[in-house]
Amino acid sequence: GPLIGVLALQGDVREHTHALRASGAEVVPVRRRSELAAVEGLVIPGGESTTMDRLLKVFELYEPLRARIADGLPVYGSCAGMILLADRILDGAGGQGTVGGLDVTVRRNAFGRQVDSFEEDLDAPLLGAGEGDPPLHAIFIRAPWVEEVGPDVEILATVRSGPAAGRIVAVRQGVLMATAFHPEIGSDHRVHRAFVDLVLAHRRREESAAADLEAA
Ligand code: GLN
Repeated sequence: GPLIGVLALQGDVREHTHALRASGAEVVPVRRRSELAAVEGLVIPGGESTTMDRLLKVFELYEPLRARIADGLPVYGSCAGMILLADRILDGAGGQGTVGGLDVTVRRNAFGRQVDSFEEDLDAPLLGAGEGDPPLHAIFIRAPWVEEVGPDVEILATVRSGPAAGRIVAVRQGVLMATAFHPEIGSDHRVHRAFVDLVLAHRRREESAAADLEAA
């Protein structure tokens, strides 16, 4: 399988590692530049985006991560990871930065601070969920939502019902994916499998581009 890193500065690294391995990937923790340079895909886990922002600065990973994303590295961010991938955040802590790459505006702690966590079934046809297939059972923990998307962003899932009905909670833009919820918790690995497929498709495109270059 492809070599996928999990950013291991803070957050639920173990759960993502397990879900990725169950989806056929080889997985390594990423804390240093050299580890980041070696992977074919990266997961930014759930946790606390303000802490990860701070640790990305301490470990001097911001610039190399931005450079790899600009160069086409597939990245999947879950919850705090979604916040870190967003180009714009609302209700961020003072001075909170993001890695960026995803042309979205994300609202942090969007479901209300008193609503700590909740679970919802989601339709996500592009992830093989809902519409005949079992829905995605999504766990939200002090989650953000996506408030605005740019023209190249595909909406993968929205909330079905309740006061937040219609809110966007999963998106994709090229090789970047993000969910407001935590598919790494539990045994339904369809989101992680979709990311592993994205990494493999990207590898095939790179290989055929390299072969074209050699033939030219
Ligand atoms: N509220 C957290 C943040 O702002 C995200 C919570 C999570 O990742 N479960 O980073």
